[in-house]
Amino acid sequence: MTISKRCPKCRKEYTLSVKACIKCGTQLTKFIVRVRNQDNNWVTKTVGSLSLAR
Ligand SMILES: [Zn+2]
Repeated sequence: MTISKRCPKCRKEYTLSVKACIKCGTQLTKFIVRVRNQDNNWVTKTVGSLSLAR
């Protein structure tokens, strides 16, 4: 499972250590969670907080 962040304006993805978008300065509050399912496909979920991601 991998967790990353995405800027809602630029749709650019960042690692968890990045707090704000480098381009536009927007606070990164959305988390993208990727989980590999039984069929070996990546399932992507967007959640509003880290506690939901886990
Ligand atoms: Zn941005």
